[in-house]
Amino acid sequence: MILDLKAIIMDIESKITIIGGGIGGLVCAIALQQKGFNNIQIFERRTEAQSIGAGFVAWANASWVLNKLGLLDGLAKLGGRLKQMQRWTDQGEYLGGVDITKIDQGIGYPSYAVSQADFQQFLQHKANEQGIVIRNNQCVIDIEDNGPENSFLRFEDGSKTEADIVIGADGRMNSIARKYVQKENKPIYQNYINWVGILESDNPMPIENNVLDYWGCGTRFGIVPINKYKVYWAGCKALLLNNVNTADTDKQELLHIFNNWPTLIKRVIKETQDQNIKRIPIFDHNPNPNWFRNRVCLLGDAAHASLPTSGQGACQAMEDGWHLSEQMAALSTLPEVFNAYQDIRFEKTTAITISAREFASSLFNTQEAFCLKRNNIAKFTDYEKSANGMIGLWSKNLK
Ligand SMILES: Cc1cc2nc3c(=O)[nH]c(=O)nc-3n(C[C@H](O)[C@H](O)[C@H](O)COP(=O)(O)OP(=O)(O)OC[C@H]3O[C@@H](n4cnc5c(N)ncnc54)[C@H](O)[C@@H]3O)c2cc1C
Repeated sequence: MILDLKAIIMDIESKITIIGGGIGGLVCAIALQQKGFNNIQIFERRTEAQSIGAGFVAWANASWVLNKLGLLDGLAKLGGRLKQMQRWTDQGEYLGGVDITKIDQGIGYPSYAVSQADFQQFLQHKANEQGIVIRNNQCVIDIEDNGPENSFLRFEDGSKTEADIVIGADGRMNSIARKYVQKENKPIYQNYINWVGILESDNPMPIENNVLDYWGCGTRFGIVPINKYKVYWAGCKALLLNNVNTADTDKQELLHIFNNWPTLIKRVIKETQDQNIKRIPIFDHNPNPNWFRNRVCLLGDAAHASLPTSGQGACQAMEDGWHLSEQMAALSTLPEVFNAYQDIRFEKTTAITISAREFASSLFNTQEAFCLKRNNIAKFTDYEKSANGMIGLWSKNLK
């Protein structure tokens, strides 16, 4: 059956269904509701907020979006301001740093480090306050066209629901919406594993407001302060996908990998509770310029999952939510809305995905000679120019 796209008229009474109550889905729902769309439901497969990472930096571009939605004060209460993004070798040699205050000035908003779970709970609370319906424990298993009128979502429990507009914010790994839109969903393993953790310590962490990024050879350890006593971190290593831990626990594995690294790293690993450490094989997607089909449109990781080396996954999901809501408020047919949204978002998210891959291929290169040369280049890098590059890319289309 071929739908007559011209007949798909957008109106404020449309039933809007969002698959996925992660950061992207929640921000999009809040933005739409604030623009007068009242008929919004989020279907989330999990019982409560749960996130893929431990924490993230809501960079100034995310703060731009949150300010538009009146949510920036809430982020400021949960998060910590940052001064510098410092690079070090695994032996504690300083390689230089990007001034985060410059990025903030350049984009015009503050950046904050925040626990992903806290931030997601905050968004859920705001969505509830605005009257957005979040249906937990509802796993979508299929999307079907129902003629030109609307679509059906089918759920794992056998039930189904109708929707005039479907926003697929169902993440990077197994997006049902991506399968519907692009007819495939093949995340690509990028040959490294992240162990992420979050630590609340009784003793202050000696890192002030600086992000510490340690580079080894095929290995990396990053620590991000949320406040004096709370940090989130990621230990990463180039490994084949079928590789299994050689130690009994993730903590033991990490202590083994980072045994000869600076003391702070070992302290952070040792003090983190086992249940707060997650092992995550890292996948992304090739950029694909088909973000919508019929009534279904992709958003966040489902549309453009970039590697964690971009530092921008959550921020870009928020930008998507804002821009999609803007187009829905301004235009009157779904094809117009979805085309305009994709036009604004595709180039920026593609640039972020590609630069994250380039950075990862340098960080997770396992050849000593390459790593030595890379570190030497880092020592002589013009970090002001790097900051300006980030400002240029991250502030694109934020007007
Ligand atoms: C190890 C790691 C570290 C990261 N670190 C950072 C970082 O420092 N900074 C940063 O900005 N980004 C980071 N990211 C990326 C960031 O987590 C994602 O880009 C961001 O969460 C995307 O938000 P989203 O809403 O699109 O998807 P998600 O947060 O993945 O949310 C998708 C939601 O959809 C739900 N869902 C999925 N399938 C279904 C279904 N069939 N039915 C119903 N619900 C469904 C899921 O349960 C989930 O709640 C990291 C990612 C990884 C893997």
